[in-house]
Amino acid sequence: MQLKKYLEKKILEELKRGNDKPNLQLRTKTGLHNWHNCKARKFTRTLFRLRTGHNRLNGHLSRFNKSINPNCQDCHRDEETAEHVLLQCKSWIPERGEINHYFHTHNIQPELTNLLGLNPSFPSKTQFNITRLLVKYLRNTRIIYRI
Ligand SMILES: [Zn+2]
Repeated sequence: MQLKKYLEKKILEELKRGNDKPNLQLRTKTGLHNWHNCKARKFTRTLFRLRTGHNRLNGHLSRFNKSINPNCQDCHRDEETAEHVLLQCKSWIPERGEINHYFHTHNIQPELTNLLGLNPSFPSKTQFNITRLLVKYLRNTRIIYRI
């Protein structure tokens, strides 16, 4: 058991080295967190793409294909990134209401890491509640089909 813990710690240190992405840097253990999975595989895949930043949003795709307009398909104002479509896009203010209300009443900063289950300081009940609200948002806005 001691050896297993030691190896997990070493693996995590190795993974974090040379990678500044929050989905790795904020981790306290290896493996999956329960709240990173949904009953529907489609949502689990979408959440994984959002956490890693490897998604099909215009902001990411335009980095590899210069013919793709990086701007948001909904508001056409800002670059279409995970942070934009989930937290900032003016086209989805009413749909974001429940998430904002939950964050406000639980004193949680409206940041991407908190929304994507990457903040290890929240209890698992909170993580599950946030994931449930995020899945609902992705479904209602149909953003899930673009990620
Ligand atoms: Zn937008």
